[in-house]
Amino acid sequence: MQLDLYLLGAPGVGKGTQAQRLAAHLHIPQLSTGDMLRDARQEGSELGKQVAAIMDSGKLVSDDIVIALVKQRLARPDHAAGVIFDGFPRTRVQAEALDRLLQETGRQPLRVVVVDVGTDEIRRRLLGRLTCPRCKRSYHQTDSPPQHPGRCDACGSELVVRNDDRPEVVEKRLQAYLAETAPLVDYYQRKGRFYRVDGTGSIDQVFQLILGALAASLPTP
Ligand code: AMP
Repeated sequence: MQLDLYLLGAPGVGKGTQAQRLAAHLHIPQLSTGDMLRDARQEGSELGKQVAAIMDSGKLVSDDIVIALVKQRLARPDHAAGVIFDGFPRTRVQAEALDRLLQETGRQPLRVVVVDVGTDEIRRRLLGRLTCPRCKRSYHQTDSPPQHPGRCDACGSELVVRNDDRPEVVEKRLQAYLAETAPLVDYYQRKGRFYRVDGTGSIDQVFQLILGALAASLPTP
């Protein structure tokens, strides 16, 4: 069975964390355009240089760039059974391009889960976030601190505050979300295969809500 899922929500709602969990649970990869762009920057590639300033300002990278990245990634054989989209699509143009791509490549229509969290809580989460640059795990300074201060529990790397988790950039990212991405809720709601979950509980609680919402779509164990 082929299954592409999209976790839609503001920055900081826990999409990355939930996408990692779902990926492990369903044995399909997570496809995070934010991680791909950060990797490109770390490698110092042309693409990385091109997007660095935009990412650090909290604005969105151009549709053409991210659509091309996703096309390449989806063509990989290990992505044939499905993926969990995290942070893509972020605009109407991207959503329409993805619909076309899934159709042209004979994949199933997208399942969409919206994770809802209020903006005050999102600010609190983003401003306390620590990230592992190597394995991409997220921590929170008070809610979910690492076992050893400043070190990733999984790989031991030194945790960092992402450039775009600085207060002035957080506001820009929230604005970009409200202007460009939030309208996609309506776009997908009209299409069906659309589920909404409350993202304010613990990581485990939200994970169970997502699994429950998707129950009818998931392969039976
Ligand atoms: P994220 O880790 O998903 O919050 O993404 C970090 C940054 O990467 C965003 O603030 C954007 O600058 C850029 N980015 C990631 N995904 C996209 C996308 N689908 N469209 C445009 N820009 C993106």
